[in-house]
Amino acid sequence: MALEIKKAQGIYLTTTEGKRYVDLISGIGVSNLGHRNHRVAQAIRKQVGKYWHTMVYGEYIQSPQVKLATKLSKVLPDSLDSTYFVNSGSEAIEGALKLAKRYTGRTKFVAMKNAYHGSSTGALSLMSDPYFSNPYRPLLPDTYFANYNDIESLDIIDNQTAGVVVEIVQGEAGYIKGDHAFLKAVEQKCKQTGALLIVDEIQSGMGRTGKLFAFEHANITPDILCLAKAFGGGMPLGAFIASKEVMHCLSHDPVLGHITTFGGHPVCCAAALENLNILTKSPYITEVEAKSQLFRDLLVHKDIQEITGLGFMLGVQLESKEHLHRVVNECIKNGVIIDWFLYAEDKLRIAPPLIITEGQIKKVCKVIVNAIESSQIPNVISSE
Ligand code: PMP
Repeated sequence: MALEIKKAQGIYLTTTEGKRYVDLISGIGVSNLGHRNHRVAQAIRKQVGKYWHTMVYGEYIQSPQVKLATKLSKVLPDSLDSTYFVNSGSEAIEGALKLAKRYTGRTKFVAMKNAYHGSSTGALSLMSDPYFSNPYRPLLPDTYFANYNDIESLDIIDNQTAGVVVEIVQGEAGYIKGDHAFLKAVEQKCKQTGALLIVDEIQSGMGRTGKLFAFEHANITPDILCLAKAFGGGMPLGAFIASKEVMHCLSHDPVLGHITTFGGHPVCCAAALENLNILTKSPYITEVEAKSQLFRDLLVHKDIQEITGLGFMLGVQLESKEHLHRVVNECIKNGVIIDWFLYAEDKLRIAPPLIITEGQIKKVCKVIVNAIESSQIPNVISSE
């Protein structure tokens, strides 16, 4: 897009040319409270005044990490009481894979087709599309793929499997919601075989789907939960979270099972704590469902085939990739930033900050519907 950003505030980005845009993708699922929330900014400034990096992760006691981990254990199921902070989503996935290997003593992983779990070598091994993974082979051996929402394909999970990695709403596949029966079946199969259930909530977490964590909708409990993106309140922070019993195996034989210099950076943890405090005490998360429905009610056009997803993960299916690219460009021209997906170029990605108001939703939906109308690709009718 090559927009040169001068300032970001709330749902808006302003460029050096003075043009204002609505960020309807939240910087790809990051700015759930909008840009530069003043309380998060305040928490950052406060921590900057105390200390920044002091030592590689885990050596010193740093209160922002302790407070954030404590708060997480309060909002998560009892079994998720041990948090390992990292820098990014990919690193959270790497940590989860290593942890599952160590805990189970097994090497096999099962992921879902069309999932996206990150760009590092381990995470890339969980990508089913060879277009993205083949140029980087060899990757992790012993990785297999089940079909998302296909219970029968879960037979591939067996007692050789260390972990099963699953998103509750597949992000880059175009916001495909996991059926509750399917997600329950994945959990059940993990229990039967002793595989660990690794839930990637890097994009769906922190209120985006109308619950703090999307797994709450399906009533399942991850063995390992991966967080990043909106987790840091706009700062780079990730985490993999498990029970103390599971996490303990990273501490011995060998010691230092995962080493990270900047993981759990105190300034990022201070931001994340304030972000989590706001999310858990404000009405933003509970308002997501009604606001999401407003998008669905207003995004009506004959070229919209369906709207998939959950909460503020909305995938708007158009009839062709060519039309969609024109719509995205037209929206950007008219001050609304939307996007498509890594694996679904004929679907519009709508993932607004949770703070967007009804009035703002009405305005952006008008822009989008007008863009769909004005960007139609004319049928070439030949009279000859
Ligand atoms: N998992 C999911 C579901 C994601 O959407 C992403 C990022 N798009 C990642 C993992 C990787 O996160 P990061 O880019 O922070 O490494």
